[in-house]
Amino acid sequence: MKSPNWLSQRAVQKKDAIALSFRDGVNLTANTWTYAQLEDEVNLWVAQLQAWGIRSGDRVGLLLANQPRYITLVHAMTRCEAVAVFLNIRLTAKEISWQIEDSQVSYLLYDQFTRSTTQEFKDLEFKNLEFKNLEFENPIKVSYSDISDIDYSSLNSLFRDRCNPLEKRQFGSESINLENLQGIFYTSGTTGKPKGVPLTYGNHFHSAIASALNLGLQSDDNWLLCMPMFHVGGLAIIWRSAIYGTKLTLLPKFDEREVLEAIASERVTLISLVPTMLTRLLEHSLWQNLQQLRGILLGGAPASPELIAHGQQLNLPIMPTYGMTETASQITTLRTEEIALKQGSSGLPLLGNSLRIVDLDDAQRELPSGEIGQILVQGASVMSGYLHTDHTDRTDRQQSQFQGIADGWLHTGDMGYLDRDGYLYVVSRRSDLIISGGENIYPTEIETILLSHPAIAEACVVGILDREWGEFVAAILVTNHNNNQLTLTEIRDFCEQKSLARYKLPKEIYVWKSLPKTASGKLLRQQIRNQINI
Ligand code: AMP
Ligand code: MG
Ligand code: MG
Repeated sequence: MKSPNWLSQRAVQKKDAIALSFRDGVNLTANTWTYAQLEDEVNLWVAQLQAWGIRSGDRVGLLLANQPRYITLVHAMTRCEAVAVFLNIRLTAKEISWQIEDSQVSYLLYDQFTRSTTQEFKDLEFKNLEFKNLEFENPIKVSYSDISDIDYSSLNSLFRDRCNPLEKRQFGSESINLENLQGIFYTSGTTGKPKGVPLTYGNHFHSAIASALNLGLQSDDNWLLCMPMFHVGGLAIIWRSAIYGTKLTLLPKFDEREVLEAIASERVTLISLVPTMLTRLLEHSLWQNLQQLRGILLGGAPASPELIAHGQQLNLPIMPTYGMTETASQITTLRTEEIALKQGSSGLPLLGNSLRIVDLDDAQRELPSGEIGQILVQGASVMSGYLHTDHTDRTDRQQSQFQGIADGWLHTGDMGYLDRDGYLYVVSRRSDLIISGGENIYPTEIETILLSHPAIAEACVVGILDREWGEFVAAILVTNHNNNQLTLTEIRDFCEQKSLARYKLPKEIYVWKSLPKTASGKLLRQQIRNQINI
């Protein structure tokens, strides 16, 4: 199914409306582009991409931090019908080359910033960009460009050479095929090897429409983007803004003060945050700026009940959400006014999506409300399968560890339950489940209690392999103000007072300076578990 290009259509309908607000140059002066200006920028870059030889179907890797050009390039690739491969700039050289090979990138775009900041980036031999990864037999040759070397005069002359000025867009596709691949994302890989997630234009379109049907749309809407665009939670904001024809405020990265100042100076109305970001914003003296927002989408990782309750006390329009790369971002959302009634819930599926809870050991058996099982989702924003079949963890689709699409349903690998009204409660990831003496133990239940202890700032609960019990519970803690006095007895007493069952009480505690997390704030449990189990 074809649709006119969303941005081009907005550039006609809303040509003088502000599309993008950003910080420019070394002095980071505030700058804006109207929809017509963004469209012009995109046209210049289409000429450049085509001059490099990028053609329909080519996979183009983006190894860039947030910047206006990221948005321009994403739109320009749509015109060229190239597939964007979103590379995380915090990965190691080895991980990046693995993803480049795995996704068959033929062209890589980076800049001096990524070159100087990406971990181990110097190791990627850019003068000879041939990726020799041991896991691949035939190394592929990748062309590459440092986009920081490109200036407007060169883009303009290229543009003039390549197209008839009366027919500005003659060389780029003016329509979008909704079935076409827009991009490939790699999931954070907290449970093993990263999985390639291909998303189509249709996936993004349905996600954006479903989100607007839930939040409503206002002509002065302005979404603040402070998450990396190489994660779907960041990229989705680009599509939403273009599809709605509303303003996007772009920050190069998450910084508490910059976020809170931008909310006030740019009149931001909506923001997407992961729980760790919200915690940090609430500790800042300018936290009150958050009260100007009409929506705070909070997701990507479990949010503690304390954080949500704190937000409620401060009258913040928090909307807990559940979603993942495989579903092109949010798939369920809880409305702010329902938080008190549905404590701990991530809400109802957005329009066009459905949820199902199935038995952990038998995916054919659907569970009644209240029972915990694996979360399955279906809908127009859900991917149709991982990039390669071997990205699916297990081949046996009935097994609880299977993650992927089977019979039209995405087996998420997350565990949860639905209440009688169909509201979702996410409990934990299947792989985080601790089984001790045959009893299922969900780490988040214990972590929630630990986090309510005044001396504990962060907590991670993992299972330690044990002959007698199979596994037993261990807690890794980060204390407030370097309070290292915590004892195991004190922690066990505290948990017992909070009515935690005896078999769930931690048998060991470790006090660490910090807990390893992904860029999106998820605990790297596998890594923590490995460190403890050695
Ligand atoms: P990713 O794999 O990076 O796309 O992140 C998606 C994963 O984050 C989900 O599969 C969940 O495990 C987790 N997640 C997202 N939203 C929530 C939520 N509201 N509560 C608990 N976990 C969540
Ligand atoms: Mg995942
Ligand atoms: Mg995420």
